[in-house]
Amino acid sequence: MILKSLVATHFRNIDQCEIHFTPGVNVLLGQNAQGKTNALECIYLFARGKSFRSVGDKELVQFGQKGFSAEISFFAEKREQTLSYRYYEGARRRCRNGAEVDKVSDMLGHFRAVLFSPDHLQLVKGSPEERRNFLNIAISQLDRSYIQHYAAFRRILDNRNYLLKNAQKGQYYDVNELQAWTEQLVEECVYITLARQDYIRRISDFAPHHMRLLSGEREILKLAYESAIVGETADEIKEGYTRAFEAGLKKELQAGCSLYGVHRDDLRLTLNDIDTRSFASQGQQRSVVLALKMAEGEVCQAFCGEVPVYLFDDVLSELDEKRRAYILSAQENRQTIVTSCEKISSVTAHTIEVVDGQFLPREV
Ligand code: ATP
Ligand code: MG
Repeated sequence: MILKSLVATHFRNIDQCEIHFTPGVNVLLGQNAQGKTNALECIYLFARGKSFRSVGDKELVQFGQKGFSAEISFFAEKREQTLSYRYYEGARRRCRNGAEVDKVSDMLGHFRAVLFSPDHLQLVKGSPEERRNFLNIAISQLDRSYIQHYAAFRRILDNRNYLLKNAQKGQYYDVNELQAWTEQLVEECVYITLARQDYIRRISDFAPHHMRLLSGEREILKLAYESAIVGETADEIKEGYTRAFEAGLKKELQAGCSLYGVHRDDLRLTLNDIDTRSFASQGQQRSVVLALKMAEGEVCQAFCGEVPVYLFDDVLSELDEKRRAYILSAQENRQTIVTSCEKISSVTAHTIEVVDGQFLPREV
């Protein structure tokens, strides 16, 4: 997959732009607050269907304007394609290769990108929710039904919790209804657990390799799924949850919420068998996240046969020379758009200077 161009109007501080990218490494070079992250946000819109900064479309509109438009042109599935997104006063129009698509989900799965954002550093030391989000987003890119299962899980969980809350307050609740929600919850937990375990196995084929090279052979990264329910097969997981809910009913009625489920699981990351949640240094955190992100792209490539576009926001700060050099050389043959405040000298890169929302190709 090769991103050829981005054309945007009134997107955040970008009044108007037409940026052309080359295969290999592209550097968006500029001082702070010039529009580098905004450009990546605009591109990633087409991979995720919404902003990675988790805001509504309205906030993406340039101050003083009523709407924005953006279009990417890219080469994938052996042909040139376009995706466009227009927002105007609350109304949206999305097109794929010129034809309008109704649902955002119909726009997804065509342009694939892996994003590294400094917010992802929370993946290592942040709450388990950050790591579950990482798994949820990465798996959704490969398995569309995962999103539906996950939405179903949240809906069932809310309903079940509502009943348990009533029970806790001493109000009437229907025992049969609770049982029905429990059975449905178990089904969704089985699907989600198996999908997450499978993804962790896939990503474990690549991420430790990057971590080993990033750390000069010193650090061994291991990934494991952490759950109160132990099981590797659908039957084992189903039995584990069913038993846990049976045994824990009294506690759940007291607590007024569900005490078991995939919303309590975690991705355990260790370096040389020590948990990174408590001990990793700044540089190690960044390296672990980078290793995971590079691996995310490789899993995507193995799965769909296309190399995704890597969008690396502010990836190089806090990394020593060796680690920087490793990343840039590993990415040399994969299209990567990296933002930076400083010139990057160690790699042949196409440099685009970013000044006040304007993008100018530059000879370096
Ligand atoms: P840094 O190196 O600090 O990360 P950056 O080049 O990545 O900087 P961006 O995050 O892209 O900077 O933001 C550039 C500017 O866009 C900021 O000054 C921000 O205030 C501005 N901005 C954000 N949203 C809007 C908007 N809706 N309309 C106009 N400008 C906006
Ligand atoms: Mg930025």
